[in-house]
Amino acid sequence: MSLSFDPASVVLPVGHHIGGRLMPADGQMAVNRASDGVAVAGCPIADASLVDVAVAAAKEALKQSGWAKARPRERVKALHAWADLIVEEGEALGRLESIVSTRPIAQSISGDVATTAEQIRFFAEFADKEGGVVAPTSADRFGMVDSEPYGVVGAIVPWNFPISMAGWKLGPALAAGNAVVLKPSEMTPFSALMLAELAVRAGIPEGLINVVLGDGGTTGNAITGHPDIAKVSFTGSSRAGAAIMANIAATGIKPMTLELGGKSPQIVFADADLDLAADCVARGILSNAGQVCVAGSRLLVEASVAEPFVEKVRKHFDAIRPGPTWDEGTSFSPIISDRQICRIETIVEEARKDGAEVVVGAKRTGPGECFYHPTILAGVDQTSPAVVEEIFGPVLTVQTFTDEDEAAALADHPTYGLCSGIYTKDLSRAVRLSRSVQAGTVWINRYGRSQDHILPTGGYKGSGLGKDLGREAYLANRRTKSVLIDL
Ligand code: NAD
Repeated sequence: MSLSFDPASVVLPVGHHIGGRLMPADGQMAVNRASDGVAVAGCPIADASLVDVAVAAAKEALKQSGWAKARPRERVKALHAWADLIVEEGEALGRLESIVSTRPIAQSISGDVATTAEQIRFFAEFADKEGGVVAPTSADRFGMVDSEPYGVVGAIVPWNFPISMAGWKLGPALAAGNAVVLKPSEMTPFSALMLAELAVRAGIPEGLINVVLGDGGTTGNAITGHPDIAKVSFTGSSRAGAAIMANIAATGIKPMTLELGGKSPQIVFADADLDLAADCVARGILSNAGQVCVAGSRLLVEASVAEPFVEKVRKHFDAIRPGPTWDEGTSFSPIISDRQICRIETIVEEARKDGAEVVVGAKRTGPGECFYHPTILAGVDQTSPAVVEEIFGPVLTVQTFTDEDEAAALADHPTYGLCSGIYTKDLSRAVRLSRSVQAGTVWINRYGRSQDHILPTGGYKGSGLGKDLGREAYLANRRTKSVLIDL
């Protein structure tokens, strides 16, 4: 069966999902299809009073449903039922996602939707397996470290993988016994509404997931500064992460998890399997057209193999299939907005003026010029804006090194530390380097997190605070309480 469809045939749900129902609202910001720039809907902006309503609905749902107090296995069952429905409705979810986002429908269904369901199951299983511990105290005392949910968690996510990012936040927060007020990106607001609706259909108590639409300045700010939101979980740019920290500092201290930007190196040694490495390096920057926090955007390659290696990568770049995200045959994503393409163009142009060599790309491509051709920039140095700034597009810079120490020095970014790829057959060197690289994740002879949800993800330096995925993400949604009794 073909997955391709006419995007005009899908009714877009516009409103806020509060207390288990869609509350229709007038669109105030244009939502454009990434594939052709056509405006298809308006995104409402929830103001502080509407965020109050959502938070109150979340508190009431916690009180009425017993979500946090009933046997934890009840949460496990409800979350599995939700995951089942997400899989069942995978095509409809994927269709909705592909209209305005950059995610091609085939990748959305088989990748984002399927993975989100798996992650919800993964987190669900912690609910009745992770608990407190008895503390080793003296014999005349009994001490324990109890653990409990926060209550209402605020979650704010970006546009680049809307379903997955929402799932990363909702799964662990709900499994841990919390209710959530979630704000998707104003550019891709629809799939989060459907996730919330499916949760209600699956039997997750109404009001446990509330989705408020809006921008960062109004809605986002109201969430992070809300006195009854006990914890904030954010994924997005380092700039917004810093603004959120400032708002939390000003409005009442609370824990936060920040998953922020990156500028990750891919380090290729001459002894690597160069075909495998070229495939991984290419996928690491072509995925979602480079609009990925973990994009491997800086190629560091041993000088002796640099030329043939770059040629191998270039072959992958020439094989892209750009097209409307609602066409099954599309595998290469559009850029989210014209503004973002202009930003990519500006950085590439600056690099070119500074003497960078364009090996391939540096131009718009695809239908409607809403795509940017994968680009390789050689002859750049460590201070070039193309090497320093997170471009969030399919642009790979190339730098060469002659030994391991030089590779490690080049890999170190002044502000980011999200991920790193290392390609070599010398495993001692790979492990040595993995220990010196300043990054929260290191992939050796592969690039990408795949289905291993147990591995937490999160950055060093300005790439973030705390972790998503893994046991850490579950524990981050509970707080511990020490209890001591004299016997
Ligand atoms: P963004 O920071 O502009 O927006 C992200 C979300 O935050 C949106 O919902 C936005 O409305 C909201 N927001 C913006 N300013 C805010 C504020 N002051 N207070 C509260 N909310 C605010 O990011 P984007 O352009 O949507 O996404 C791209 C960025 O996200 C990139 O930097 C990318 O690296 C990062 N990202 C990181 C990860 C990770 O796991 N580390 C994953 C995906 C994306």
